Amino acid sequence: MANIHDYYRKNFLYEGHKMMLPELRDKVAQTCAHCKFFVLVTGGNETRNGCAAQIPRYAGLSRRVPGELDAVEVLELVGREGLERVLSTAGPHRQACWQFHPRG
Ligand code: SF4
Repeated sequence: MANIHDYYRKNFLYEGHKMMLPELRDKVAQTCAHCKFFVLVTGGNETRNGCAAQIPRYAGLSRRVPGELDAVEVLELVGREGLERVLSTAGPHRQACWQFHPRG
């Protein structure tokens, strides 16, 4: 009788048919660049990418997420640590997180 572990290890069709929930597939296949929360944060000297999901005002999607936020406005809303979190969370090529929401 064949070794059952060998059967699965050598069966490439079985390997290629891993199941994945459709919602999970969206998150794995997408990047921040396709997310509704992905914004530009403009400061005095530079413009950086940011994640509006870190700002409670926009996280619930009860307000429209603008494409661009002023750094001073973000500072007023979430403080210095919050601004750092907004700027460090998102990147155009970064894999989408659990808060991903498709643009549309
Ligand atoms: S970190 Fe998550 S919520 Fe923020 S822009 Fe990226 S995918 Fe969207």
